[in-house]
Amino acid sequence: MQDWNEFAQKNGLAIKDTGPCQLCNSEVSKGIIECIDIASQITHKLDHDLGVDKMTIFLCVDAHALQHSEIHGRWNNHYHLARLHLILKKNIKWNYKLSPLLSEVLDKYKVKNENEVIRNPMIGNRGVITVRTVNDSVGDDQYIRLVWAWADDVFNTFHESHDISDKISDLFLKRVFA
Ligand SMILES: [Zn+2]
Repeated sequence: MQDWNEFAQKNGLAIKDTGPCQLCNSEVSKGIIECIDIASQITHKLDHDLGVDKMTIFLCVDAHALQHSEIHGRWNNHYHLARLHLILKKNIKWNYKLSPLLSEVLDKYKVKNENEVIRNPMIGNRGVITVRTVNDSVGDDQYIRLVWAWADDVFNTFHESHDISDKISDLFLKRVFA
């Protein structure tokens, strides 16, 4: 995440350090920097093992990354949208061992689809749930429910690219379960 400033520059995003987050509109007072700071903490609101079991640890990363594509590399959207597709649509129970396998599948996919881009929904249209909503949750149950709703919300805003994430999901399922 330390390179995010560099990616912002490359994408022509001038970082503001006051007001709401300029990418997801989360109600913070120090802009995107505070949004990223909250994002790095909310994955730990649950006990680690429970977070893995309920997959919130993965869903938070995917939802935040997709809402903030301008501060990540260009293949980042493919990875996080495909993982959400696998979890939300194909009912895959994610775990740490599967993450490098998805990278491997995506590396092969990139070679054949080098010019493909997953376009970001316009700023302001990337879902109504943000890190702030999730951070304000009270208790484990509400937190888990909100993280799943957040991931679902963001995933749906990328509907124009669901055919791409579906394709990558199928390649992944063949690689892992065939
Ligand atoms: Zn944000």
